[in-house]
Amino acid sequence: MIHVVHHPAYVSPAPARSTYRWGKNGLIRDLLLEEGARIAWHQPEAMPRHWLEAVHDPDYVAEVLEARVPPEKTRRIGFPVTPPVALRAQMVPAGTWAAAHLALLHGFAANTAGGSHHALAATGAGYCVFNDLALAAVRLVEEGTVARIAIVDCDVHQGDGTAALTAGRSDIATYSIHAEKNFPVRKARSTLDVGLPDGVDDDGYLDTLATTLVPFLDDVAPDLILYQAGVDPFAGDRLGRLSLSLDGLARRERLIADLAIRRGVPLASTVGGGYGDDALAIARRHVDAILTLGTAFAPIRTGTPS
Ligand SMILES: [Zn+2]
Repeated sequence: MIHVVHHPAYVSPAPARSTYRWGKNGLIRDLLLEEGARIAWHQPEAMPRHWLEAVHDPDYVAEVLEARVPPEKTRRIGFPVTPPVALRAQMVPAGTWAAAHLALLHGFAANTAGGSHHALAATGAGYCVFNDLALAAVRLVEEGTVARIAIVDCDVHQGDGTAALTAGRSDIATYSIHAEKNFPVRKARSTLDVGLPDGVDDDGYLDTLATTLVPFLDDVAPDLILYQAGVDPFAGDRLGRLSLSLDGLARRERLIADLAIRRGVPLASTVGGGYGDDALAIARRHVDAILTLGTAFAPIRTGTPS
């Protein structure tokens, strides 16, 4: 059984004049529903305001929750923050936090949204409003659930917001493997950054991932991995620049799962980037990632079936 966190508020109506494709989260839900009893569904509650304020500037939190984000921040985010978008922004980080708790119980769990790794303290950016990865990680260590977290970000874009929001913390380490020439132009400093040249293929990507992530995890020795499983390194992605095949993405998920399983470290995944005209194909890639990760973890589960 694969534990999946989802909330109806993830599926927000598209704000007027938004070029961001809003259908993805609903399609991910629909494809996972087709898996039937294999999926155990969980619904988060909205993240309390003071948890949001532990990572984001309280003025920015107020701007989002009251749906009055100023125009320059709206431009950086890439879509207007309407009341449904604000509710979604409050729900998604709670989903990543809930997935982490489920992973600690079951080995693996997935949030059907999240991976909002460009959001910064006082503004969103790059289709990200609040940074669910940083919010969940900070909350998990501050509530005493775990002592050390590794955030592993395999989105094709650098996890700049996550790096900035967790900089200087000894209890949260960040790893980002990304296309060096891609957005954001100005990179932040993760604990470990692996910038790839354009056009890297499956073997080049997986080889670099293995040779950099293994020592990182050995070094950090995390109690939990938060995994941003962006599918935009795919060759056909509109905003990609890398050349992974579908098989390469599946091999990536198995490698990530293996590294966690061998260390006995629970892993919670989020979605992430995935861009193009065919929203169903993109949703399929996200669901494939969740199912591949969940399948890899399945044999190691212990205790009574749940
Ligand atoms: Zn991306």
